Amino acid sequence: MPTFVYMTRCDGCGHCVDICPSDIMHIDTTTRRAYNIEPNMCWECYSCVKACPQNAIDARGYADFAPLGHSVRVLREEEKGTISWKIKFRDGHEKNFVSPIRTTKWGSIQSPAELPVPSAEDIHSQELAHEPEVLNVPDGLPALRADQLKQGVV
Ligand code: SF4
Ligand code: SF4
Repeated sequence: MPTFVYMTRCDGCGHCVDICPSDIMHIDTTTRRAYNIEPNMCWECYSCVKACPQNAIDARGYADFAPLGHSVRVLREEEKGTISWKIKFRDGHEKNFVSPIRTTKWGSIQSPAELPVPSAEDIHSQELAHEPEVLNVPDGLPALRADQLKQGVV
């Protein structure tokens, strides 16, 4: 189910634009409000829905499997540390779900630009940049040894 924005609720803060992995949440240059430029390319990750401080983004199912009249509302309450989903069916039936927001503090994850630049030797490592620290795996990741490779290492 792709997302859409209630323009009267949106204040143009841009959080959804920053968080969207598909780069499809944009700010309209005339109205200064966010909108989903290409719903077909939506990953349906709902990061934007959960990040919106104005509760301005909803998910809308395609008409072939989600008949008109349904709605999906989400409410992020940082002070309670919860995300609540309210699913309303076409017959008025409702289901409500509440989940914890996340395990790390909002905004506490560093971007790659804030981490040290990898050294030239790091290109020979089996790990990606800043692993395993950024994955929070204190004992390190499992790695193949040269003697485990059929053809050895050239
Ligand atoms: Fe982007 Fe995910 Fe929101 Fe779709 S659900 S618009 S991919 S952040
Ligand atoms: Fe608008 Fe919400 Fe996006 Fe901010 S996060 S620009 S309020 S839709």
